[in-house]
Amino acid sequence: PAVFFMNGCITSAESVLITQQSHEELLKVLRNNKASATEQKVVVVSVSPQSRASLAERFDLSSSEAGRRLTAFFKGLGVHHVFDTSFSRTFSLLESQREFVERFQRKEQDSKSLPMLTSACPGWICYAEKTHGDFILPYISTTRSPQQMMGSLVKGYFAEQQGLSPQQIYHVAVMPCFDKKLEASRSDFYLNASETREVDCVITSGEVQKMLEEKNVSLSDVEPAPLDTMFSSVSGDEFLSHCGSGSGGYLHHVFTYAAKQLFGEEVEELTYKTLRNKDFQEVTLEKDGVVLLSFASTYGFRNIQNLVQKLKRGKSPYHFVEVMACPAGCLNGGGQVRPLPGQNPKELLQKVEELYKAERPLSPEDDTRVAELYQSWLHSVGEERAKELLHTRYHAVEKMTNGLTMKW
Ligand code: SF4
Repeated sequence: PAVFFMNGCITSAESVLITQQSHEELLKVLRNNKASATEQKVVVVSVSPQSRASLAERFDLSSSEAGRRLTAFFKGLGVHHVFDTSFSRTFSLLESQREFVERFQRKEQDSKSLPMLTSACPGWICYAEKTHGDFILPYISTTRSPQQMMGSLVKGYFAEQQGLSPQQIYHVAVMPCFDKKLEASRSDFYLNASETREVDCVITSGEVQKMLEEKNVSLSDVEPAPLDTMFSSVSGDEFLSHCGSGSGGYLHHVFTYAAKQLFGEEVEELTYKTLRNKDFQEVTLEKDGVVLLSFASTYGFRNIQNLVQKLKRGKSPYHFVEVMACPAGCLNGGGQVRPLPGQNPKELLQKVEELYKAERPLSPEDDTRVAELYQSWLHSVGEERAKELLHTRYHAVEKMTNGLTMKW
């Protein structure tokens, strides 16, 4: 399975961890639930907006329509709750914004506080930990990815609300890439006290399509179900999304927030300047000829390597970089639904992008339910614990240890 991984740098031990996560695992848990009354697990599926758009394209639906029908499909299989990772992404965006402003303010004292490099892409994180170790890690944002934010929400807040132990919940994330399986199996996201992971299993958009095929179901024929609103960004029966890139819109949100907070500038629209190729873009905030903020997005390993080289030579002009391992980002992830025979991959990607962008954006600050959770849940657990629930850490890995296979 290693060929599926964008980062191409997993060890054999890691590949075992990852192959253990599959749609068959989910089906096994659902079968066990039906077979025995004692071993019941509450099954929660969190669907990413990128996967929703990918499946919508395949079945000629809108993203929201695909989301409603996926909810029905999963519930028909015995899943108890279907959530939406745009909701947990709001936490990731809010935390990234705050983290950036805080890092910007201490840039004089701490030479590694900037540029802040995003952390939502596990392909990039794996590469950074294994090849550039201690040099690069301090630059990487400690904010959890939307998947792992949802892990905190489901095994923390939700478990408590439902009077369940985290172990009684089986939490599945539907994601556009295989590397997310690797992320879910990191020891940082294992709850030692309750011996369970925050995300038990990650399945890709392509695996969901396989499940549909195996059940002989076309998503277009599934009767839509009402959405679970507890952890979903919805307005009526439509999903809400975020502005900016199809990889989460980190650059967009951190830029507009920082412009306002640090310089009192209201940015209505961002102007992206394409550098070497469309996977390397820049956005700057200038006033009276002075560059106040310099942001970039860097997708694909060639561009990432370029960025790292610039950093090593002390030549990076950036304050913030949205880093993604896949060329064209998450909508083009290796776990997305593959093109049909004869379908042009570029056209497919364009359609998926259109479907993704058609969801109405909601500003993270305007999400009242997220604000409520900050108040009621995160406030009550104390600052220290809240930090653990919303942030993570990275570990330099020694290169080439005892026979582990490394491709980089
Ligand atoms: S860019 Fe997105 S889809 Fe690709 S490896 Fe990173 S997180 Fe996964």
